[in-house]
Amino acid sequence: MKIKIHGAAGGEVTGSSYQIQTAKSNILVDAGMFQGGRQSEIKNKLPKGARPDLIDAILLTHGHLDHTGRVPLLIKYGFDGPIYTTEETIELSQIILQDSARLQVADAIRQNKRAWRKRVKMTPAEPLYNTEHVEFMKDLTRPVELHQSVKITDDISARWIEAGHMLGSGSIELTVTEQGQKKIVVFSGDLGPLTFPLLRPFEQFKKADLVLLESTYGDRDHKPYDETVREFQEIVKEAYRTKGKMLVPSFAIGRTQQIIYHLAEMFQQKIVPTFPVYLDSPMGLSAFEVYRNHQDMLDEEFHELKRKGGFPLSKKTFIPSASAETSKALNEVNGPCMIIAGAGMCNGGRILHHLYHNLENPDAHVLIVGYQSQGSLGRKLVDRLPDVSVFGERKKVKARIHTLGGFSAHAGQTDLLKWFSSLAPSKPRVVITHGEDGPRKALAEQIRKKHKISAVLPRIGDAIEL
Ligand SMILES: [Zn+2]
Repeated sequence: MKIKIHGAAGGEVTGSSYQIQTAKSNILVDAGMFQGGRQSEIKNKLPKGARPDLIDAILLTHGHLDHTGRVPLLIKYGFDGPIYTTEETIELSQIILQDSARLQVADAIRQNKRAWRKRVKMTPAEPLYNTEHVEFMKDLTRPVELHQSVKITDDISARWIEAGHMLGSGSIELTVTEQGQKKIVVFSGDLGPLTFPLLRPFEQFKKADLVLLESTYGDRDHKPYDETVREFQEIVKEAYRTKGKMLVPSFAIGRTQQIIYHLAEMFQQKIVPTFPVYLDSPMGLSAFEVYRNHQDMLDEEFHELKRKGGFPLSKKTFIPSASAETSKALNEVNGPCMIIAGAGMCNGGRILHHLYHNLENPDAHVLIVGYQSQGSLGRKLVDRLPDVSVFGERKKVKARIHTLGGFSAHAGQTDLLKWFSSLAPSKPRVVITHGEDGPRKALAEQIRKKHKISAVLPRIGDAIEL
């Protein structure tokens, strides 16, 4: 068999996709989008000669765009086989991909309008796919249960286990039978930290011939999770005391539910009196629906909080704001209150108008709870620039900016090594993916030291024969 690497390699974190070819089968594990900058747009296009119609099946580890974002593109160009993943991933990827399709269509229209106004001759910009392709995807999906082996093709079966990274996330084990011989290939997918709230901790496989291991934080550990939660609580308590307005730019799926969970915990334990928390995000609200419908997948702590009378997923903790009108009305609301809105890096979405109205207010607080890429407005706030541009207007930053670095949904180095430790005795070949150069090299070094296995750091386009 041959495993071809189509993304998340060569120091690149996004675009995860692996193609497994045997004499009888041709399948993909993940078909993610490359993210960040115009360069990615080129990489996301289907390469010349690609034949999605010849792919037998797609298996997905989880719903994030960098693992699912090119599935509708493959459908657009002829893929019509089954897509296997957990029910939660099916539902969350629909929310994420519908949003991505809408943004792409709007972006193409904007580019074409600009070219037309300036009389520039160019091939019209085209979205990779539209919402209909995402809709078709739903018909191809086949839900799988964790721990159950699923026959994918004549010679490949697959099994998912909990990865603890986002609701529905899994690591995948493929069993491939060739000439009467069984070989096991394991894909870690993205792994969550063991201390992550709401989600159950990752599970481990026992043996493999080949392991493809993520390395996003392969070079370091995060700050202890409890410490981050305490920091968050102190900021909230102080803002409450001074009747401040708290703004939280947040990714709609995952981080938003995590923040609401910690607020529910604070309200239940009476660490702070209940105050209005507005969830100003249609996408975040849709994601809550999925969480509510799949509570059996959540961890023991979550159920414990509910038993004690906390409301981690309920409108008793947050006030939904779905429409543009309710969002605008929040400008008139006084503190103490919290507004959670996207985009997580402040490079678009409703958070912009909240920042526009509150950045110059010294009583306002901005809580940065996620990663901010270079050049984003969120990063400028983290870097304490004295003034920033919002909607083309300069705003002095007088609000208090708090950066909370420890809420990550990715396992740090210690947890990655722990996950791998159960596989190490079977002495598999190891391929390290999904990491920038520093982290992937550091993780490879640790694996060499601890287990005397020298891992491969592939480039995009490399193929591994097994
Ligand atoms: Zn992910």
